[in-house]
Amino acid sequence: MEVENKGSLEPLAPGRRSDRVRYYREGRVCVEPGCTTVLSIYNPSSRCAVHQRRADVIPLRRLESEEMERSCAQCGATFTTTNPRRKYCSSRCRSHAFAEREKLARRAAVAIEERERAAA
Ligand SMILES: [Zn+2]
Ligand SMILES: [Zn+2]
Repeated sequence: MEVENKGSLEPLAPGRRSDRVRYYREGRVCVEPGCTTVLSIYNPSSRCAVHQRRADVIPLRRLESEEMERSCAQCGATFTTTNPRRKYCSSRCRSHAFAEREKLARRAAVAIEERERAAA
């Protein structure tokens, strides 16, 4: 009986844990009373997919709709948004910035054209 488990109790090398794929204990069962679903070792939850919804999905939804404070890239006004990619406080500022960028691009194109004309 002493041979059992030998070699399998070796501790993980310290500091290397984060390099490994994260997985969870094998053979876990959903904690919901009456549920016998065995959980995947990759499932970070303690509940099966059916029962997970209730307990674990809520914080995820809250994260998605979390409001953040940003300052408008055009006018500098502070605004709140749930979209992390939003850069402008309003569609007016957005189109304003877009028009400005177009103007700059056109000006740059004209400058290049003039330089080429001067060189020719
Ligand atoms: Zn379950
Ligand atoms: Zn603005």
